[in-house]
Amino acid sequence: MSVLVWAEHDNAALKDATLSAVSAALQLGEVHVLVAGSGVGGVAEAASRIAGVAKVLVGDDAAYEHGLPENIAPLVAGLMGGYDAFVAPATTTGKNIAPRVAALLDVAQISDILSVEGPKSFTRPIYAGNAIATVESSDAKLVITARGTAFAKAAADGGSAAIESIATTGDAGLSSFVGAEIAKSERPELTSAKVIVSGGRALKDAETFAATILPLADKLGAAVGASRAAVDAGYVPNDYQVGQTGKIVAPQVYVAVGISGAIQHLAGMKDSKTIIAINKDEDAPIFQVADIGLVADLFTAVPELTGKL
Ligand SMILES: Cc1cc2nc3c(=O)[nH]c(=O)nc-3n(C[C@H](O)[C@H](O)[C@H](O)COP(=O)(O)OP(=O)(O)OC[C@H]3O[C@@H](n4cnc5c(N)ncnc54)[C@H](O)[C@@H]3O)c2cc1C
Repeated sequence: MSVLVWAEHDNAALKDATLSAVSAALQLGEVHVLVAGSGVGGVAEAASRIAGVAKVLVGDDAAYEHGLPENIAPLVAGLMGGYDAFVAPATTTGKNIAPRVAALLDVAQISDILSVEGPKSFTRPIYAGNAIATVESSDAKLVITARGTAFAKAAADGGSAAIESIATTGDAGLSSFVGAEIAKSERPELTSAKVIVSGGRALKDAETFAATILPLADKLGAAVGASRAAVDAGYVPNDYQVGQTGKIVAPQVYVAVGISGAIQHLAGMKDSKTIIAINKDEDAPIFQVADIGLVADLFTAVPELTGKL
């Protein structure tokens, strides 16, 4: 089986999510990676070094600079004559591109796969991760998004794939880039962080959230996450949200502070290796998934913990 993987990048560097998508794709067959962007020579070089990748296709065009899915999906669909499957990481951008590719190919997308069970058979979470479905595609071509936390990252070095320039499809004229407000942070990225400290509604407001959670995160070198309640209340921007409608994370350590553990939050973090919960309610559902639970007032416990670290 020949598989095309869409590479996630910012035109300068390849994102780690690509490596997990490559691992998923390698279980299906020969893997080619598509680097679509503007001025992406360096990204293509990096993609060619991923272990196991046979070829890198480079679509270099100003129309792809901002990753507009309306422009990238036709490029992918046009290439799919030569491939049996398309795999994108189940990230915000991957989830924006893949359904458009599936629609253009008139096939059903297989979303958020957790494992490859056979050439056309996969597992994927349903009911917010409370059940795992095994699904089999009857389509001639597969369009798949792969959950990053479910596949080990392919080695970023060791490969020496050929790099080939391809004809681009240009601007589809359906959308235009207006602007991006990108928060700059010295902290690790949420989806690839080894340690995450997350805060919930109990943090009261933006100032209290920052004053309580950030010093602990700094001590642990951690990324900062939040529950939807904390995001909706404006304590932090919505790209901090962990959960069913936020980011799916599986760090080595996840510290949940003042988070009740609603099923939609658990859907995003319950695969974390060690879960530490701080909550003043001993019956909070978060304690059912926590490896270490501290029943305490967070406004006492967190500064004390931060001070002792
Ligand atoms: C379709 C849908 C999708 C959703 N997607 C998401 C999602 O992606 N992510 C997500 O997080 N939620 C999501 N939700 C919302 C979810 O159902 C919960 O409402 C939300 O997770 C609750 O956030 P919380 O735990 O911060 O707040 P609460 O449930 O209000 O919990 C606050 C907790 O803080 C504790 N607490 C209060 N004061 C203190 C203190 N001083 N010290 C210690 N502990 C204290 C309380 O005991 C309580 O357990 C979704 C809901 C729906 C319907």
